[in-house]
Amino acid sequence: MSETLPACEACGGIQSQGLTTWHRRCSACGLETAAFTAHIDQREGPDIDEDERELALRPIREANFDTLLAWLLDQPELRNRKGGKLRLLDVGCAHGWFLERAAANFEAFGIEPDAEVARRTMARGLPVRRGYFPDALDADETFDVIVFNDVLEHIPDVVSALRRCHERLRPGGVVVVNAPDRRGALYRLASVLVRWGMNGPFDRLWQKGLPSPHLYYFDSKSLSTAARGAGLDVTVSRRLPTLLARGLYSRIRCSGDVSRAKALFLVAGILPLVPALKVLPSDITVWILARKG
Ligand SMILES: [Zn+2]
Repeated sequence: MSETLPACEACGGIQSQGLTTWHRRCSACGLETAAFTAHIDQREGPDIDEDERELALRPIREANFDTLLAWLLDQPELRNRKGGKLRLLDVGCAHGWFLERAAANFEAFGIEPDAEVARRTMARGLPVRRGYFPDALDADETFDVIVFNDVLEHIPDVVSALRRCHERLRPGGVVVVNAPDRRGALYRLASVLVRWGMNGPFDRLWQKGLPSPHLYYFDSKSLSTAARGAGLDVTVSRRLPTLLARGLYSRIRCSGDVSRAKALFLVAGILPLVPALKVLPSDITVWILARKG
């Protein structure tokens, strides 16, 4: 007799065993979860050099941040707002790249739980507080925009996290969730490979063994379901490009356990796929959530 899995966090539906021992799926809303424990302060797994990782991810992220910001500013909720700059909170702001780009249009600040990353970002003069959401905030602080860039899928109990957002939103405010999407081409490919006994890409997409792995993989249905449980509605969403050719080599190398020769071999294999990835379903989606009704 198989063990009974806990009910789906988003809809209360029945979860079934997924593709690995730690992977689960809700048959009703499609939410995918991992039975990992999140410990951002704990250093375990491959030792990723922070500087190299910073360089590797930068071109991909910055292009997507500019697309996201232009689109966000064009949303009716924000476009028609009067008065001074809107107040934006970047949860898990890491190196502050999004803050730098948002500063022109928003009164933006970030919170970052990793002490060393927060220290470095503060040292560059960016407005950052060290800590978790919402504990790092003052009791009465509210925002026009709360942003999660590759962050929400790492936070345990997603419905509670979204409920805390609801409490912190000003009238007409929005939550922005920028997260990996289970409908993406890379995720689907990794899901096929794991059925063939190749767990590597699937484990990597979930960031298994890293200090702060992914606990969720969303799509529009499961995120809408989780949002409704927190008093929020998904108003609009859009896909962002999965991968750019620029920065690919260092992105592969920075995982720590990949040799120079193997990284070059992988780049040679992946580069021809880049045009295909532009037409296949993207692995990144941005959802905008507003208060219900
Ligand atoms: Zn569900």
